[in-house]
Amino acid sequence: MPVVLGGIEASLRRIAHYDYWSDKVRRSVLVDAKADLLIYGNGERPLVEVAHRLAAGEPISSIVDVRNTAVLRKTAQPGWTGVDSTRLDSPGRIEPILNPYGEDLPCVAHTVKGSTSGKPITVQAHKPKQWEKTYVLLPSFEKVNNDKVMYAHASRILHHETNPGSARALMQKHGDRYVWINPPAIPLQTDEMDAVYALPYQRVPHPSYGTSRIPAYDMIRFSINIMRGCFGGCAFCSITEHEGRIIQSRSQKSIVQEIEAIRDKVPGFTGIISDLADLRPTFTCCATSHPKRSKPVAARLASTQKFVRTWIPTMSRSSSSIAVPAP
Ligand code: SF4
Repeated sequence: MPVVLGGIEASLRRIAHYDYWSDKVRRSVLVDAKADLLIYGNGERPLVEVAHRLAAGEPISSIVDVRNTAVLRKTAQPGWTGVDSTRLDSPGRIEPILNPYGEDLPCVAHTVKGSTSGKPITVQAHKPKQWEKTYVLLPSFEKVNNDKVMYAHASRILHHETNPGSARALMQKHGDRYVWINPPAIPLQTDEMDAVYALPYQRVPHPSYGTSRIPAYDMIRFSINIMRGCFGGCAFCSITEHEGRIIQSRSQKSIVQEIEAIRDKVPGFTGIISDLADLRPTFTCCATSHPKRSKPVAARLASTQKFVRTWIPTMSRSSSSIAVPAP
């Protein structure tokens, strides 16, 4: 029986990672769980492909090339060439942690007028990447386990290789095997997102939980996911690692239909949608109305927003909670 891992836990644990609970760097869950395949990120495309290939009689051991999946291998895939990650990003020294309330932060507001000490940054056009059939060899688990700089370096490379249009495969040694991570899947279009969210979800916990209280369910049962992805790139956040940087949105009609489904199906609905997961208003605000916004930031936002095919003006004008009539 093939064993395929998925979900956000598997996704974020696909390479050697820091585990908060044990306060240790742990191996890829693919190694520890002895699974055949791991699907990371939002899994609709890889799940369908893997299911179809298995249904067609292909052995799980030969399904090694699906985007958004990771597998264990003894060597790199045939026909691929590797580049060492330290050629792409130089591991540096660990800077002391700045006091977030200190006055010595390198903030733009502290720049002395007329100072010549700062160097202008020239933003250069992207050079085309030769990503196809190229993998990046990350420092091994054994290395990142013992070296914080190499851990940070591996994490940085993982974040760099998240653009489905140009990302390379990643490979990280664990003992005598390698975790091979295929590039991310192509993001869903709005009509595809709508189709995913129109599936007949039960909207209640699995019956095996009985009457147990599930704290995570309390948080999400009146919550609606209206988009995916974030280009923010904040160091403490896992959204980019899981969903990528490209924003994918649902249509307004699809969202309204889900609100109605919650109203009609979810026990205890009081008329309040607790959360509309949408980062875009924040970024739009930064891009268009902040008087001190920088031109590079505005340009970056504008280019990312080209990917947003559907806007949800009614939703995003308001706060992240809305009230709808209860049944
Ligand atoms: S803006 Fe928010 S969602 Fe995006 S990376 Fe930063 S913390 Fe994460």
